Amino acid sequence: MSGRIFTPVPYTIIPPADKFKDLTMLSFDPDSVDLPAGHYINGRQLSGKGSGLAVKRPSDGRLAGELAQADAALVDEAVNVADRAVTESGWSHCSPRQRAAVLMRWAELIQRDQRLAQLEALGSTRPIHDVVNHEIPFTADAIRFYAECADKYSGDVFPTQDASLGMLVPEPYGVIGAITPWNFPLSMASWKCGPALAAGNAVVLKPSELTPYSTVRLAELAVQAGLPAGVLNIVQGSGALTGSALVAHPLVRKVSFTGSTQTGARIMSDAAFNGMKPVTLELGGKSPQLVFDDAGEVNRVAERIVRGFTANGGQACVAGTRLIVQRGIADALIARLVALCQGFRPGVTWDQNSSYAPMIDARQADKVQQIVNAARQQGGEILVGGQRFDATGDGYFWQPTLIANVTTDSPALQEEIFGPVLTVQIFDDEAEGLALAAHPTYGLCAGVHTLSLERALRAMRGIAAGTVWINRYGRSGDFIIPTGGFHGSGIGKDLGRQAFEACRRYKSVLIDF
Ligand code: NAD
Repeated sequence: MSGRIFTPVPYTIIPPADKFKDLTMLSFDPDSVDLPAGHYINGRQLSGKGSGLAVKRPSDGRLAGELAQADAALVDEAVNVADRAVTESGWSHCSPRQRAAVLMRWAELIQRDQRLAQLEALGSTRPIHDVVNHEIPFTADAIRFYAECADKYSGDVFPTQDASLGMLVPEPYGVIGAITPWNFPLSMASWKCGPALAAGNAVVLKPSELTPYSTVRLAELAVQAGLPAGVLNIVQGSGALTGSALVAHPLVRKVSFTGSTQTGARIMSDAAFNGMKPVTLELGGKSPQLVFDDAGEVNRVAERIVRGFTANGGQACVAGTRLIVQRGIADALIARLVALCQGFRPGVTWDQNSSYAPMIDARQADKVQQIVNAARQQGGEILVGGQRFDATGDGYFWQPTLIANVTTDSPALQEEIFGPVLTVQIFDDEAEGLALAAHPTYGLCAGVHTLSLERALRAMRGIAAGTVWINRYGRSGDFIIPTGGFHGSGIGKDLGRQAFEACRRYKSVLIDF
């Protein structure tokens, strides 16, 4: 491998965030925020070629800007830039400690950048308070975690015949293509870029065309932190035009994707027919919340359940959207859930007092409406919600909704709705509860609520899901715990050392002496 070793930016201690010291001053005027132009390639913003896409603000449905799409030629340019940069800059073969220092510094810049927070709040469904207190620290910490991984995981030495030495030598792939969804633009980008960069790869990332802006700022901060220009590039555009060109590019050696199961299947097939490259697929879910009679204090359980299906307006892959509750606790729990659901209020994401997320766009709001209407027509009983907060206003805020008596074939029970809708099913014994928890397509997560250790462990074993949360619902900030689905919910893991190791390929070496 040739190329110079990049000159690392000296690692300095950055003082704590001054911008966000006063957390009572977070509100901002969305029209005052400059939107980054188009793509980010070779350390520069590029307004780009190709036809434009309208990008709307989820909170009020107003046009934020036109997005130039990268066509196959521009994707080719970005991938070639990345391929050259990763070797010529020395990023792939410098000391892992040097990479770690750059990533640590990047995390510091992320955590104190007001512009990044505003771009995320303006362009996505995340209220500014939530962005500053959760999304940004979560993003920065994921990158710190992978900085720490850079020199922690080695290869292997095998017990071979006497006069030979067998080894497994990890090396970076080169260029990794990353594709992210709109529901958590920053943290999803950090889950892809953190491990890939720490392992010595370059990345070309395509964010969702619905939430393009904050990711460009993220890449700009990486270069400010000392990442060599060209090692992280952002290309904008639709999945059909830009995403598929990225997956098919011969110099993209691995694809890391988060999004819907349908798109994941397409990407797996495109990757198979364009170089047989490995894919990591983090896909959709329809996760059960299994509540037993002995779940403990009803209020606390209800709060967990409500957080689990309303976070980000229900637009979370992990949303726990199927309540499966044992008869003895059902009435008390449902009454408490209905009361809690009535406490939500809509509010634009740039207002510091807002805490409830809008739907990403009109299409998503309509999809939720259609599924709720279909459930109603099939005899489903709407216990609370069932409509938008303001059917005529701009922005698409959906009321938290509970539906009982859903038929087994109802789309409300079968499909990933991606809205704040919880179906309710009641069971009598454990075996029936576990049978209801199974889903024919998805296996992303499950919540189990019981104070019986034995029952909890039986349920954990009995549910086919990549993550089982017992007496909690949702991730912690423990990035060592990987995440990923079974069946139609995906292949491979994000987070944990598994994601780092999946960003390297392993060469078997045998030496005779
Ligand atoms: P989506 O599949 O529509 O799009 C995801 C990304 O793929 C976007 O950037 C899109 O432009 C791109 N894309 C679309 N078609 C493509 C193609 N043919 N080739 C290449 N790229 C293509 O998903 P979405 O609506 O943006 O996000 C919501 C989905 O993401 C939900 O299903 C949700 O469960 C899932 N998700 C999963 C996880 C997880 O960790 N498992 C996390 C977040 C979101």
